Amino acid sequence: MQGFGTTIFAEMSALATATGAINLGQGFPDSDGPPAMLETAVEAIRGGLNQYPPGPGLPELREAVAEQRRGRYGLSYDPATEVYVTVGATEGIAASVLALAGPGDEVIAFEPTYDSYAATVALAGAVLRPVLLRPVEGRFTFDPDELRAAVGPRTRLILVNSPHNPAGTVFTRAELETIAAVCREHDLIAVTDEVYEYLTFDGAEHVPLATLEGMRERTVTVSSVGKTFSVTGWKTGWITAPARYVRAVQTVKQFLTYATGGPWQHATAYALRNELPWVEDLRKSLEGKRDRLITGLEAAGFTAYRPQGTYFVQADIRPLGFTDGMALARELPAKAGVVAIPTQVFYQRPEAGAHFVRFAFCKQDEVIDEAVRRLAALR
Ligand code: PMP
Ligand code: GLN
Repeated sequence: MQGFGTTIFAEMSALATATGAINLGQGFPDSDGPPAMLETAVEAIRGGLNQYPPGPGLPELREAVAEQRRGRYGLSYDPATEVYVTVGATEGIAASVLALAGPGDEVIAFEPTYDSYAATVALAGAVLRPVLLRPVEGRFTFDPDELRAAVGPRTRLILVNSPHNPAGTVFTRAELETIAAVCREHDLIAVTDEVYEYLTFDGAEHVPLATLEGMRERTVTVSSVGKTFSVTGWKTGWITAPARYVRAVQTVKQFLTYATGGPWQHATAYALRNELPWVEDLRKSLEGKRDRLITGLEAAGFTAYRPQGTYFVQADIRPLGFTDGMALARELPAKAGVVAIPTQVFYQRPEAGAHFVRFAFCKQDEVIDEAVRRLAALR
């Protein structure tokens, strides 16, 4: 793992703490999830749910996840054999890649890639094959020919993140059809990262890849509680997949962490069943925050890309005369009292993303307003 160093989120959050700058870097909300969900976790601890839960997860959470996939997307999974609880989506992705790709195998992912993907592929001894997302009329998308060209004889997996962090793209049904066709044609397994499945804007619809023809049997879907219910510290996630893939993931997960924290699982099951109206309010408020941040970034001189989902904005720094996002992100607390994420760390060739920084908008309106007021001083 030499070369992976410290994650950018740790580095930039430490910088925010050390300088007192406004942290629009690491993506975590500055307000809590639904009060009754928090109370449910507290009651679980008081009630004695404090010893190892079953390795696959509490049955009530596996059932709640199966109900959610069926109710929202019409996808059926057997909670006993096709749902598995993990320590956040991060472990769900890592355990899936470790289970399904081996040394020398190739894993395709859309670049910029969420930061854990490259590290996880390296842990498996596999090779990451990036397919670039480029802005076309203000929206990041891929060239289908480049996707097809990335497939080789050693390709095993494709990692698909939609809504996409950090590009903000919600893949359309047509884009997903292209990906599905490649998977079917080359017998690839898809691992989909759907942690922002509820956070989509302007009517963009989140379509799980597993709903497309022939894809349920070749897709491992990953999601988690953190972003949907504003509890990123709970680190509780899950995979849904055909039983043979779940067994493979189980083999890995049981030796990574064995099980996932019980009180969080209990409260997450409660939230999936009872708090989706709260999530819809969150989604609506994030839509407004997105527009607020974009207006401010544009006024400050950035070119800002309007995301269809997630809570991040990609901003091009070149109109302000900067070219190196890493250098700017390291100086930004001193220059402007704000922390952002240099998006180049999400690229195999940092040059491809050198001119972008990412700002998070999962913050109080006053915090966003103060951040953009400070950024206006960069001109
Ligand atoms: N995937 C993406 C795209 C993310 O942005 C994040 C951060 N929420 C994760 C995975 C990790 O999720 P978790 O905190 O549940 O491990
Ligand atoms: N997913 C969050 C982000 O993209 C951070 C997760 C982490 O700190 N590893 O900002």
